[in-house]
Amino acid sequence: MGSSERSTLLSLEEYRSKSSFDVKQMFEEMEPPEYFEIKTKYLLIVNEALEIYNANVSIKIALGVALFANALNCLGSERHKKFYTDVWEGKILSCLAITELEHGSDTKRLKTIARYDALTKEFVINTPGICAAKVWVGNLGKQCTHALLFAQLEVNGVSHGLHGFVVPIRDPQTLQPYLGINVGDLGEKSGLHGIDNGWVMFDNYRIPKENLLNRVGDVNEEGEYETSFTDPQKLLGASLEILSAGRVGIVNESSNNLLRAVIIAVRYAAQRRQFCDSKGIETPLLEYQTHQYRLFPYLAATYVIKNFSNEFSDRYVDCVAASREGSLEMKQVSRMVSGVHAVLCCTKAVITWTTQRAIQETREACGGHGYHKAAGLGDLRNNHDPRVTFEGDNTVLVQQTSNWLLKLYNDPDERDFTVYPLSMFKFIDQLDAILSKKSDVTNVETLCSVSTIMTMYEWLICWLLKTTNRKMDALKSKYNDRFVARNLCQVFKAKELAIVVAEVSVCLAYFLILPASALRIAVQNYGP
Ligand SMILES: Cc1cc2nc3c(=O)[nH]c(=O)nc-3n(C[C@H](O)[C@H](O)[C@H](O)COP(=O)(O)OP(=O)(O)OC[C@H]3O[C@@H](n4cnc5c(N)ncnc54)[C@H](O)[C@@H]3O)c2cc1C
Repeated sequence: MGSSERSTLLSLEEYRSKSSFDVKQMFEEMEPPEYFEIKTKYLLIVNEALEIYNANVSIKIALGVALFANALNCLGSERHKKFYTDVWEGKILSCLAITELEHGSDTKRLKTIARYDALTKEFVINTPGICAAKVWVGNLGKQCTHALLFAQLEVNGVSHGLHGFVVPIRDPQTLQPYLGINVGDLGEKSGLHGIDNGWVMFDNYRIPKENLLNRVGDVNEEGEYETSFTDPQKLLGASLEILSAGRVGIVNESSNNLLRAVIIAVRYAAQRRQFCDSKGIETPLLEYQTHQYRLFPYLAATYVIKNFSNEFSDRYVDCVAASREGSLEMKQVSRMVSGVHAVLCCTKAVITWTTQRAIQETREACGGHGYHKAAGLGDLRNNHDPRVTFEGDNTVLVQQTSNWLLKLYNDPDERDFTVYPLSMFKFIDQLDAILSKKSDVTNVETLCSVSTIMTMYEWLICWLLKTTNRKMDALKSKYNDRFVARNLCQVFKAKELAIVVAEVSVCLAYFLILPASALRIAVQNYGP
């Protein structure tokens, strides 16, 4: 049994303790990066490697250490260095508290409030009712000592929107929660049993003024809110890291889960035999046409997705570096950030969905034995499953990609294909010319060639973009309401647009790194 699987012999508590123990062990192996010099690539690699060993441990560390440290780096300042040192030394463990009972995807409507008290120079945190309880927060149920809390900042009766705060939750020595904090465990989940997801409500809970992550905005000595971020370019770079790092991690993890599921099923199919041919020889499952049609698309997807995830991680790290170096203009950084975000939103969705479906198909392809705990596919499915929901629900995320593309479509001045990762989508500039093209393919070989496939994909994106935009315009005129128009445009238009964009992005990265000769051989060998 793999280490990420929960033995039925261990209780939930024992299993969580084991994950916690593994996390502690990891601290002895990890090399803490310097403050403000966070090594994005290093953390991504550590996360990916740990996920293969045990998904619970990787998520615990990602939430409890890496995301917290990343947020301090990106949104905090020198005054938060102590938290940074403590978390890397394993003295404290964090969680990321965003989701509330009433609102998850719609983060703008989160209600937890941090009101500034000028007399004591503290923030007073309150949960205005059960609906605003923070829920689903990983590490919060039992083990974390601190929360990276996102709450509405209010100063002198004026709301300044969501800000990040470092909030002590439990005494690091006793793990007893502090007064004013109502915290609890969410109970047993369908998977990821090593992670204690929890809820919390605040009752006039006070934290020092300094615990506000103040890179975006701060409260000055006079008790007034001020935007302390003098360099907007850095703010954008910061948001790139904080928003996207988690999704890059999820793409990497999903590609490994896909790989694992496919390997199990293909190996099984190669040696498992059912039914005899006319000579009385039992046939391996892999020889059955239906089996090939069930597994080979996922096998192919594994190659493409795994290579995309490697390639895109590197490009993402390059983008983070470029945003920090200051060699790009402010506008370019802004466009790069939105390009990375748009590509990640749709690829995170398509890759996690593909992996989810692949795990189910591979489980079935292994028959009854695939259902045994020892096969690993049941745990893999349950542990992978929430990736389609956390770090942004997939259906909601893909809307961000289509919105971004529609914006580019309507405003050519917004386009800058030199800064988007992998220079994607530059063909949009020739949209009408592409749409007027007719296919001149006359044989199967050309039809299956990479260039024909990519040309067809380009045409499809252009067509979806144009028709989605047309539909959106018509709906906006009809209802005079952007929200309604967007909603009514999703099925058969905007959602498909984003999904096709994800497929193209993944393929582009793959074809970019794969030598043409290797592709030719693959097409020759496996073509019809
Ligand atoms: C295992 C796990 C771990 C988690 N860990 C954390 C954590 O550490 N910290 C944290 O803050 N949160 C965490 N979450 C919460 C997670 O981020 C939220 O569940 C997620 O953002 C979705 O929000 P929601 O659950 O409120 O779903 P909702 O927003 O209510 O969505 C429900 C459904 O409605 C659909 N929907 C919503 N809006 C639209 C729309 N505009 N158009 C079309 N469809 C729509 C969605 O696609 C979804 O299928 C975790 C969740 C899980 C399952």
